[in-house]
Amino acid sequence: MINLLPRVVRVVTIAAVISVLLGMQQPTTITMIRATTSQDSTVVRIRAASTLTVFQRPERVPGGIVLRLPGAVITEDAIDSSALAAPVRLETKRIRDILVLTVKCAPTDSVVLRRDGQRDLVCVIQSRKPQEPEDIAPRQHQPGRGKWSLDVIVIDAGHGGKDAGAEGVNGVYEKDVTLSIAKLLRARLGELMPSTKVVMTRDTDVFLELFRRTQIANDAGGKLFLSIHCNSMPTKPHPAHGCETYILRPGRNDDAARVASRENASVKFEQSQRRYDGMTEDQIIVATMAQRSFVRLSESFAASIQSEVTGQTPLTDRGVSQAGFFVLVGASMPNVLIETGFLSNRSDAEYLASPKGQAAIASSIASAIRSYAASYQRSLSH
Ligand SMILES: [Zn+2]
Repeated sequence: MINLLPRVVRVVTIAAVISVLLGMQQPTTITMIRATTSQDSTVVRIRAASTLTVFQRPERVPGGIVLRLPGAVITEDAIDSSALAAPVRLETKRIRDILVLTVKCAPTDSVVLRRDGQRDLVCVIQSRKPQEPEDIAPRQHQPGRGKWSLDVIVIDAGHGGKDAGAEGVNGVYEKDVTLSIAKLLRARLGELMPSTKVVMTRDTDVFLELFRRTQIANDAGGKLFLSIHCNSMPTKPHPAHGCETYILRPGRNDDAARVASRENASVKFEQSQRRYDGMTEDQIIVATMAQRSFVRLSESFAASIQSEVTGQTPLTDRGVSQAGFFVLVGASMPNVLIETGFLSNRSDAEYLASPKGQAAIASSIASAIRSYAASYQRSLSH
């Protein structure tokens, strides 16, 4: 037994060396091809059984694009049947040693192909909208003296009602902390930016579905959406502490994905969870693409929140991250989610539960909104 393993490794290694010497490559097996579509974009995900390194740049052909994977083979059931129902036609064939994949799209669509991890290749096809720059411009409101172009701000107090959110080491509930901060923030904005309308998704202890929150924001003609939350670790008490702000994008790391999945778990309180059934990573990519015209503004607002909150409170700076938060999907305005601090950490929880801490957090977020409003104003006048 002791000698067996090295011998197997040796044989495999020799076989690999010989195949390289002979110019033969181990075929990469494609196990899944799936297309996710939205109104104006399509994401095609190609997954291999092993590391996928060899692929050619997408080539435009009449009626679509062609993706070529030299040396790849495909399993029979690799094409997701739901992909066939989409307005995309996936056709594969092998020409000599190359796996060829055809995807239908318009000649004006933009096409980006990139690797996603070791085994995945993602092709994003985006239809171009000629009116894109107008997305961030004010529609009716012309600002006068002392008025801000940022005329409607939407504040979303996370959780509520039967959805208590995280429970702190000190017994405080996330839904109560977020509501207190949201109300204090509304009051502070009333002082700092009196001509700006502040819309709250909730200002009492009520349950509100995640999708309703951005719906309220869109209906109100919001120019900025902020969802307020508190972080928590699975085990309490926990040393992790500090403030972090998120923008909507597919998660880059495990920590961000953990935070998003904890916040997304709120859907278990909703009557119909089916609307979230298709909310896969690719749907998040599609949602992110839909927000591309204001992603830069979301990033700059997130950075502003981090610097003001960590500058004006004892909460430490965990930086700006990205993940797939359902509550941000569908917002048609710059949007971020703040995890103010950790309820699973004793000192953060104490601060988050205190009127002084809540007031300081609200006041620092208000400063961030004001400085964001100023830069937004400048960006419009250029
Ligand atoms: Zn939360």
